[in-house]
Amino acid sequence: MPSNASMPTRPYVLAECSWREVGQTPYEVAVLPWGATEAHNFHLPYATDTIQCDAIAAEAARRAWERGARVVVLPTVPFGVNTTQLDIPLTLNVNPSTQLALLTDLALALDGQGVRKLVLLNGHGGNHFRQMLRELQPRVRLFLCAVDWYSCVDPRPYFAEPGDHAGELETSVMQHVAPHLVRPLADAGPGRARTWRVGGLREGWAWAPRRWTQVTADTGVGNPAAATAAKGAAYVDAVAERIAGLLVELQALDPDDLYA
Ligand SMILES: [Zn+2]
Repeated sequence: MPSNASMPTRPYVLAECSWREVGQTPYEVAVLPWGATEAHNFHLPYATDTIQCDAIAAEAARRAWERGARVVVLPTVPFGVNTTQLDIPLTLNVNPSTQLALLTDLALALDGQGVRKLVLLNGHGGNHFRQMLRELQPRVRLFLCAVDWYSCVDPRPYFAEPGDHAGELETSVMQHVAPHLVRPLADAGPGRARTWRVGGLREGWAWAPRRWTQVTADTGVGNPAAATAAKGAAYVDAVAERIAGLLVELQALDPDDLYA
């Protein structure tokens, strides 16, 4: 590259920045996207959760950056909690305790480097960061918060049947952000999920992790048949806009004055 190469086109994506840009930019808010590597029916790739999280983090950061927020998206962690899918080949589990160890190391690294806020952007249903943030927050000055990207905008107006895993929502989002990695929907299984025999678990007020291969034959939970790239684009637009608003607010937030 010539030495007069200008700023990268995405100065809010750390993986694309050099020390020159990083040294000159007063980054205030870091975003750590966190995905998983697991089967997503027959039509979506194993990196689905990672690709979605990565794309949504970058799009939200782009919008926040254009509104003056100095946001930086960190590299997406590609390994999630998949303890009850280990009978599916090449599902790559990391345990919650390992996640906490990694998160602690990264937060301690950032702490004192100028960034004052860290947003965990989660893209996988098996990852849960709240208890980790409760444990970690007293150890760092960094303000910590967590968002599940798929929970910040109600999907029901966008999809006939959003589904839970490789269903209409996730398939539509992938058709929008990584269409070259989506197989024809004719290749997909129906994503039919068996229900718990126990009433409290079925109704959702009792909880246990699902044993994936007993729940679904194709690894999907939710029918992808009605997915379209246009639905995915509309939903990603709404989600990115909402997260961008959060990032802009966090930019202005004084971590010592959190409450109105
Ligand atoms: Zn997924």
